Amino acid sequence: MKYFVKKTAVLFFCVAVFLISCGKKEKDTSHLNIAVSSYVPYTFAKSVLGDAANLTLLIPPGTEAHAFEPTPKTIKELKRSQIFFYISNTLEPWAQKLDKNAVMLAENLPQVLPQDPHVWMSFDNAEVMTQNLANYIIKIRPDLEIKIKQNLFAFSQEMESLKYLYSNILPTCQNRTIYHIGHLAFGYIARDYNLKFEALFSADMGQEPSAKEIAELVKAIKENKVKYIFSEEQLNPALALTISEETGAEILMLNTIEGISKQDFSEGKTYQALMLENLKNLAVGLECKRQ
Ligand SMILES: [Zn+2]
Repeated sequence: MKYFVKKTAVLFFCVAVFLISCGKKEKDTSHLNIAVSSYVPYTFAKSVLGDAANLTLLIPPGTEAHAFEPTPKTIKELKRSQIFFYISNTLEPWAQKLDKNAVMLAENLPQVLPQDPHVWMSFDNAEVMTQNLANYIIKIRPDLEIKIKQNLFAFSQEMESLKYLYSNILPTCQNRTIYHIGHLAFGYIARDYNLKFEALFSADMGQEPSAKEIAELVKAIKENKVKYIFSEEQLNPALALTISEETGAEILMLNTIEGISKQDFSEGKTYQALMLENLKNLAVGLECKRQ
């Protein structure tokens, strides 16, 4: 009997330990709730975390990112999250006001163009921003380290592939100027691949182009017999359509990734996929020999 009691006690002890450890284990591997400002940190977080986190995108799909103002809904969404990643104070001055512990990803970047805050358009910067995000998550969730490092390695490989494609295709373009009916968001691509970039709107979209600026761009497009002009989805298409009609140039789209269309969002398009689409359109629009 004594033996049975002892055995039963041991058994209960084991069951209790098992339940506690199960409970603990469940807590350790539970979903992370992460808030991100724009689609840039969203796609980086998805690349390194996969489905290990619930991601909340604060700037809703279909919205122009620079015009975003936080709403009571933003604050509510933020409260449900353990971490909040954003790009930079230049682009999102509202981020640190909402959460003083918000984590800025544009730190220790190898490439900096002071006039262009769209830092992720440099593949080297994209890699560092993703590493920054990954390091932060590993610190608070060491149990995810192996998975994150594997994904980070795959992401770096994809950056190398993109660099290879961009540097093999863009030097073969017959036209070297991107006429963009959009904002100054592609300065890094222009610099890295030796292209000229003429944008109608400023880097922060703060100022509408004047009639004189529009007229000058139309004149340049006509004089250079440009067949393709570029625009971006989160912008009212009226101006690009007018310029297209006036010059006969066809419109191709470029994606800044900071703002994402509802369709691209529902399809879960990655940074890698969107940068590849940008390259395809640049190759057509700049009449590159390699496509
Ligand atoms: Zn922008």
